[in-house]
Amino acid sequence: MHTTTIIGLEVHVQLQTKTKVFCGCSTAFNPSNPNVQTCPVCLGLPGALPVLNGEAFRLAVKTAMALKCAISPYTKWDRKQYYYPDLPKGYQISQYDLPFSEDGFVELEPQETPEGTVPGRRVGIIRAHLEEDAGKNTHDETGRGLDSQVDLNRAGTPLVEIVSQPDLRSPSEARRYLEELRLLLTYLEVSDCNMQEGSLRCDANVNLHIHTDDGHKIATPIVEVKNLNSFRNVELALEYEEKRQLEQWQKTGQKIGDVAKETRGFDATRGVTFAQRGKEEASDYRYFPDPDLTPVIVSETYLDEVRQSLCEFPADRRKRLAAAWQLSSYDVGVIVGQGREFAEFFEEVAQLGHDGKQACNWVTQDVLREMNERGQTIREFPLRGAVLGNLLNRITQKQITIKSAREVFATLLSETHAGQVLSAQNIDQIIAEKGLALVTDTGAIDTAIAEVLAKNPKIVADFKGGKQGAIGPLVGQVMKAVKGADPAAVRNLIAEKIGQM
Ligand SMILES: [Zn+2]
Repeated sequence: MHTTTIIGLEVHVQLQTKTKVFCGCSTAFNPSNPNVQTCPVCLGLPGALPVLNGEAFRLAVKTAMALKCAISPYTKWDRKQYYYPDLPKGYQISQYDLPFSEDGFVELEPQETPEGTVPGRRVGIIRAHLEEDAGKNTHDETGRGLDSQVDLNRAGTPLVEIVSQPDLRSPSEARRYLEELRLLLTYLEVSDCNMQEGSLRCDANVNLHIHTDDGHKIATPIVEVKNLNSFRNVELALEYEEKRQLEQWQKTGQKIGDVAKETRGFDATRGVTFAQRGKEEASDYRYFPDPDLTPVIVSETYLDEVRQSLCEFPADRRKRLAAAWQLSSYDVGVIVGQGREFAEFFEEVAQLGHDGKQACNWVTQDVLREMNERGQTIREFPLRGAVLGNLLNRITQKQITIKSAREVFATLLSETHAGQVLSAQNIDQIIAEKGLALVTDTGAIDTAIAEVLAKNPKIVADFKGGKQGAIGPLVGQVMKAVKGADPAAVRNLIAEKIGQM
């Protein structure tokens, strides 16, 4: 017997508009001042009329285009009725049968990792629609019996709901899909995807296909795990469901269709999912077109305008960087995965340093390490791409060694004050002060080598006798005599000179 895990994800992404989707209230994250960013429209008071925020719609269209969805020329708004304390107006404005976009995909490329190759997969997107968010309930978790509280600051914030096909086959693949989706949306600057602030939330649909030894295939009942608020929790909840559903089937023999679809929550502290209320059917929501909002008719001209505003997508950037700089898929994965500004930083360094692999090593190792230690983003990092590119160019031009360049890099960073922007002049200064410039005066080097060889006949004899390691101390003595000589070049010269003796 073996099993296949079938996973589909519903992701809610908060669009980064200044104001809400159907009114002018601010969308700023403001949990310490509850209920101040509200008005009759987002509270749903009688007589208040919603008006569509054009910027929210534009960002939603950008999102759908990046997901390769078809954009519908005609779309409308529907009321989804249910009552909950964080939705006191009794309905959410959403899209039911005519979403603004459908039928797209996200491509997960095969990935080279130090652990081996992770296979690629095309994940279908059923639809992406625009809707308003509800507010937020806060329940007493101290056990002191305090009242629950409702904050409606978030009510009416624009959300795009992205519904995938059940194309994902493992918890780790679900996580990869979410990471790629987040990267895409932050590249497009349609959302900050900040999970702590609830800008990206995920529900996971999961069941198993059990292939028995006698050739039968049995599907277990589908379970929806709601409100997963971190990628780690998505992975953990799905791993738990894989085990639980198999055990449940072995115990009860229940298969899909035998019981209603179940909604479960995830308890991150205990690492388990738990049963919640039964899942509503679409008919329970009594959807009907919102009479206060006009449908949207989308013209080709409008779509062209939005298309023009799209940036290069992460997948395209990976391909371009790999080809332009002969980098492995692992390397470009790291560079592009750090976000758009980091990838731009890399390109500047590579262009000025004239060496893609060298730029990649510095940016993904030295720069990333320093950024992490300092808790900085690439935008806050004091060394601009132009300055680092300039430094690396001096290695390419054989003006300084890699070791000296590291010393300049460390000195630049340790002497920088917050907010200071460094220039190439600072590099020249440090190279001069520390005497790091490579000596290219071959006369001085030749003289030093001749002296050192004359003083060390025993080592010369050892080297001639086949002891390759014997040359080390000689290189050291020459380097001492001629500060700033390139050690590799000195080593070659000494070997050459001994060969001629
Ligand atoms: Zn409002």
